[in-house]
Amino acid sequence: MASRTYRAEAIVLKTLDLGEADRILTLLTRHFGKVKAIAKGIRRPTSRLAGYAEPLSHATFQLARGRELDVLTGAESRSTYRLLREDLDRIAAAWYIAEIADRSTAEHAPAAPVFELVETALRHLEVGHIPSFVCRWWDLHLLDRTGFRPELLACARCGGALREATNGWSPLDGGVVCVECIDRSISGLPALSVRALKSLRYLLSSDFAAAAKLRIDAALEQELERHLRAFLQNVLDREIASARLIDELARLPRRSSVTVS
Ligand SMILES: [Zn+2]
Repeated sequence: MASRTYRAEAIVLKTLDLGEADRILTLLTRHFGKVKAIAKGIRRPTSRLAGYAEPLSHATFQLARGRELDVLTGAESRSTYRLLREDLDRIAAAWYIAEIADRSTAEHAPAAPVFELVETALRHLEVGHIPSFVCRWWDLHLLDRTGFRPELLACARCGGALREATNGWSPLDGGVVCVECIDRSISGLPALSVRALKSLRYLLSSDFAAAAKLRIDAALEQELERHLRAFLQNVLDREIASARLIDELARLPRRSSVTVS
C-alpha cells in the first residue's frame, strides 16, 4: 500500500477559510497535478505553517492522504516572492495567473507543464518584468500547453494563407481570420493589426528570455491584452475575475510608458 504521507513541490493557487481556524488550499503541484489540502488550525496565531498557507506560496509541502482532502503536515519554503507582494500591479498579475491556472487544470490530472509556466511567470514578476508583458506571455503559452493554441499561421476559418494586412481575430474560430472571410462574415470581427499578429507569433514561439526582447508600446499592449483575454474567456467559458482588478489598476493616473527590456 502506498505511503500515507508524501512530499510535493507546489504553488498555492487559492485558499478558502473553513470553520474557526482551518483553511483549504488549492495546490498546483509539480508532479501530482492540482491537489486540495486542508491546513488545520492554520489561522491560529501559534500556527508554525501559517506563512505557507497563503495564495502564491511556493514550497515543498508535506501532505497526508485523506479520504476527501489531503492534510497539510509540514512545509519548506522555496520562494517567498517578497518583491512581488510589495507591488499591486504584480500581485494582480500573479492572481490572474493563479486564477487561470486553477481554471485550466483538473484535480489529480498531471499538469507539470502548467506548473512550470506558473513558476516561470511568478519568477519573472518577482525580478521586475512588466506585469502585463508577463501576463501576455503566460496567456499564449498556457493556451499552447493546454491544447488551445491559437491559430496564427493560416486562416482559422478557411485554412487559407494570411495576407500581411489587417486580419480579424476570432476566439470562436480559434485564431486569426483572413480578410476574405471577414468580408463574407455578417457581423464583422475585431481587427487584428499586422504588428499584433507578428507579436503573437513571436511570443508564442519564444521562451521568456527571448520574448522579453520584444518592444511593446501601450497601444500594442492593449490590443494584445484585448485579443488574448477574449480568447481565454472563450476557452474558460467565463469571465476572468482577477482581470477586473488589473483593469481598475490600469485606470489609476500613474502609468508610465510600457516598454520591455
Ligand atoms: Zn479565411
